[in-house]
Amino acid sequence: MHWLRTVAALREQVADWRGSTVGLVPTMGSLHEGHLSLIRRCRQECDHTVVSIFVNPLQFGPNEDWDRYPRDEEGDRALCEAAGVDVVFAPDPQEMGADPATGSDRTWVMPPESLLQTLCAPHRPGHFRGVATIVLQLLNLVQPQRAYFGQKDAQQLAIIQRLVRDLQIPTTIVPCPTVREADGLACSSRNRYLSAAERQVAAGLYRALRRGYDHWQAGDPSAEGILAAARAELEHTPELQLQYLELVDPQTLQPLPRVEDKGLLAIAAYVGQTRLIDNLLLSPEQGDPSPERVQHAAPPSSGTTSPPRRPLIAIDGPAGAGKSTVARAVAAQLQLLYLDTGAMYRAITWLALQRGIPLDDAEQLTQLAAQTQLTLQSGTSSTEPTRIWADGEEITQAIRSPEVTRWVSHVAAVPGVRQELVKRQRSIGRDGGAVLEGRDIGTHVFPDAELKVFLTASVGERAQRRQHQLQAQGQMVPLEELKAQIEQRDRRDSERLISPLRPAPDAILIDTDHLSQSEVEDKIVTLYRQLLERSGPARLDQ
Ligand code: AMP
Repeated sequence: MHWLRTVAALREQVADWRGSTVGLVPTMGSLHEGHLSLIRRCRQECDHTVVSIFVNPLQFGPNEDWDRYPRDEEGDRALCEAAGVDVVFAPDPQEMGADPATGSDRTWVMPPESLLQTLCAPHRPGHFRGVATIVLQLLNLVQPQRAYFGQKDAQQLAIIQRLVRDLQIPTTIVPCPTVREADGLACSSRNRYLSAAERQVAAGLYRALRRGYDHWQAGDPSAEGILAAARAELEHTPELQLQYLELVDPQTLQPLPRVEDKGLLAIAAYVGQTRLIDNLLLSPEQGDPSPERVQHAAPPSSGTTSPPRRPLIAIDGPAGAGKSTVARAVAAQLQLLYLDTGAMYRAITWLALQRGIPLDDAEQLTQLAAQTQLTLQSGTSSTEPTRIWADGEEITQAIRSPEVTRWVSHVAAVPGVRQELVKRQRSIGRDGGAVLEGRDIGTHVFPDAELKVFLTASVGERAQRRQHQLQAQGQMVPLEELKAQIEQRDRRDSERLISPLRPAPDAILIDTDHLSQSEVEDKIVTLYRQLLERSGPARLDQ
């Protein structure tokens, strides 16, 4: 990872990347799980990730906290390194022509007046002018194809989207959902200012928004009703000093009398001396905004060592050996991410069917795989399917249709589609701490996985398992017929030119013939724990 402080060094680095996809994540540092979610998404979608860390003096008012804003270069360096960032651009104010000493004598970018009438703008005069100016400067320096911004700063997001549109900047702005603590408090660098007692109070912001959201969900779209519900909740936390609570259109930021299509319910309040903001989108497409449990990055122990990466488990084996069931269960037991590669191929198949893309048009299918943003989230138990979103739309159920089942292997056989999805899988896997399963996962996709397991089972055993499955669905197929089918499939799988079925040389073979499913899981869990023990105590307490 390169830590660059000058515009010249940044320009030189960016010039080397011509022809590949560059993503930018602008931040003010003191990184937390919210920032990391943007970085992960960027890495998933781009070849190179630039994170800028700049506490921008132009966006702070004279009585605001620029000089005491938390700065943590050592911690940020360790987190960026562990997250696989390519370049951190951390200039000082002079380098950006934003030295507070020289005052306001410089070129500024003025956002449209219409976006400055509500929410934070009237309370922070000049703030968004400072944000827009520096963001444009960063976009100009890095020239990224994509730039990532959090929904947490909804007004900033709307202003940057307008800036890019109005000034015709060829960067796609990617909005990312708000990451929250378990009690709903949005992660923020300013949370570091809070005392333990204030931290408790701060969760009141989310509770108020949530009450408003629930009121809207219950069927009242009026601003009056939604705002009254949120205010009623605020009465339980008198320590919160409300600055504003507003319902506006998420794009135009104009006040809404009622939610017709989408609404943005936003709040700002002081907890002691600390000003916090938060919001929820009221949109039928949004889904439940309950806080996901946030896994906090371990605080780095020093500036040079990065938090340890948890090992990967790659599970491979012939069809019918029970790979996906075992992988899901192992992930749930060890609290690792289950990377459901099958769901990714299903998603592309579903989209192709939806959009009427001919399933023999390899070029269009490859383009679809390259352009679609896929987001995966493990189910909370071993039986719950992986949740999946394509370009923000949840399609968890849709991809399990019989039509998708019928065509998915066809789409997965397109080399371009495979290449694109393998690229995504690799970038998810780079962060470690995941269970991966599927054809050639240990030989081709993740040859560096720390634990590779190859599950085998005799043809007879697999035929019997398949027969039980079919019986449960009310179908009777003779055992001999199933055996013949499995033998034929094994032969095809091991003879094919691309990714033939074979165990990686360092894979551990587990013959599952006389083992129950939980015995197989236990074996893998034990192997993983042994691996952690061998890797030392740093990994054990992860
Ligand atoms: P900041 O360092 O506060 O300027 O934030 C940098 C970027 O991270 C902005 O695009 C923020 O909207 C985004 N961000 C900050 N907090 C969160 C959060 N809790 N969840 C998601 N994104 C966030």
